Amino acid sequence: MVAWMIVNPIRKCSRQNCHEKAVATLTYGYDDATAVLGPLSPTPEPGAFDLCVQHAHSVTVPRGWTMIRLVTEFEPAPPSDSDLMALANAIRETSKREVPPPARATREIHRPTDVPTHRPTNPVLRVVPDTDEDL
Ligand SMILES: [Zn+2]
Repeated sequence: MVAWMIVNPIRKCSRQNCHEKAVATLTYGYDDATAVLGPLSPTPEPGAFDLCVQHAHSVTVPRGWTMIRLVTEFEPAPPSDSDLMALANAIRETSKREVPPPARATREIHRPTDVPTHRPTNPVLRVVPDTDEDL
């Protein structure tokens, strides 16, 4: 469970309290006061913000900034090779952990050949000579 959370390949919207799947990436160009909204970048980038459909359509820029929308329809990006590898590794780690190691049987095992075949079916009672006569 912990491994899955660390390498979770599904990217979520960067907006606070929004848990929707990210479909767009917003990048700020501080030099020319331009914000660029484009398709979701293949990998998370520092300084960029991933947005869901709703926030990609409703995002605005500060006064004096220019917003450039590269696309108006957003679709989830296909998983990248690194996402697939992270997913495969997470599954591999989880499957390793949940398989208990084989343990030796703790009870004694008797094969039929180990058990004597002739056993008296009824207890046999006989008189035992008294050896305390001399006392
Ligand atoms: Zn959102």
